Amino acid sequence: MKIKAAVVDKVNDPFVIKDDIDLAEMTPTDLQIKIVASGICHSDEAIRRGDASLGYPVILSFYADGTCDNCLKGMPTKCRNYADYNLSGTRPDGSDHFQENGQHISDMFDQSSFTTHTVVDQRNAVKVPKELDLRRLGPLGCGYVTGSGTVLNSLQPRPGQTIAVFGTGAVGLAAMMAGKISGCTEVIAVDIVDSRLELAKELGATHAINSKEEDPVEAIKKLTHGYGVDFAVDTTGVEPVMVSAIHALAQGGTAALIAVTSKNITISSWNDLCVDDKKVIGVNMGDSIPGVDIPRLIDFYQHGMFPFEKTEKFYKFEDINQANADSGSGKTIKPVLIIDEDYVPGK
Ligand SMILES: [Zn+2]
Repeated sequence: MKIKAAVVDKVNDPFVIKDDIDLAEMTPTDLQIKIVASGICHSDEAIRRGDASLGYPVILSFYADGTCDNCLKGMPTKCRNYADYNLSGTRPDGSDHFQENGQHISDMFDQSSFTTHTVVDQRNAVKVPKELDLRRLGPLGCGYVTGSGTVLNSLQPRPGQTIAVFGTGAVGLAAMMAGKISGCTEVIAVDIVDSRLELAKELGATHAINSKEEDPVEAIKKLTHGYGVDFAVDTTGVEPVMVSAIHALAQGGTAALIAVTSKNITISSWNDLCVDDKKVIGVNMGDSIPGVDIPRLIDFYQHGMFPFEKTEKFYKFEDINQANADSGSGKTIKPVLIIDEDYVPGK
């Protein structure tokens, strides 16, 4: 079947929308998906740069085989073959997802949603309530489940604990809202863009720190009886910011570094970690189980506890490069490409 897709021909090229792309045939466990809308994540941009038809609606997330030991233990983000499945550019069996004139085109996350249609294994799909606006929900499968899952699944703050989130993009804001849901008394947002900090406050941050104007570590200590926070999440991948997230921890605190970045940091094992019993962890995809975590996020959303729609801005599919640029500059937190202009919510 021929489909329309946004394709990057080589590293750092812009997206080009092509309408002669061949979509893979379906296997017995596949679903053919008509795409209504797709969020753009920084991980899409990282890959572009070279760093790194059903009766009910579904949204898409990553693929895990469900058969390895970690999948069987309920940890699909730790699937033994996660990278091969999701970041190899091919289907799990090594075949092409998309072709142009018989030539391989790489997919992303074993799906690629910058397309009018795709084919995925049923494991990539999560059913969602028909009455909800699908255009809003797409990004739940990546950035939002990553940020919220890091807090709800990995860090698991208890009521009365404290959290600081560095970087208030979609992942950071999701982490922050999850801190609020968890009952953290201090939910501190750190960024360098005032408009984003304002939104962070609107979404539930108790304090917003502009780290261009004040030292975030000192400011965080002032807000936490001089101790520092129990949890910190870095979503920026910027070296001094990742180090600040560790320095801002209280004794026994944990910092989760979750940006897609190739940057390195230097920390002292004794002074920065051991003496204060601090932990630094990485978290893949918020340690999430999409079929469990995405419906839970939708419940939070419907109860007004996860107002992620305030971060979204719609763009036409043809404007994908503008959407990507606005995401990069911080002008738009979560661009959503509207691919099916005829979609009517609830129909
Ligand atoms: Zn597995």
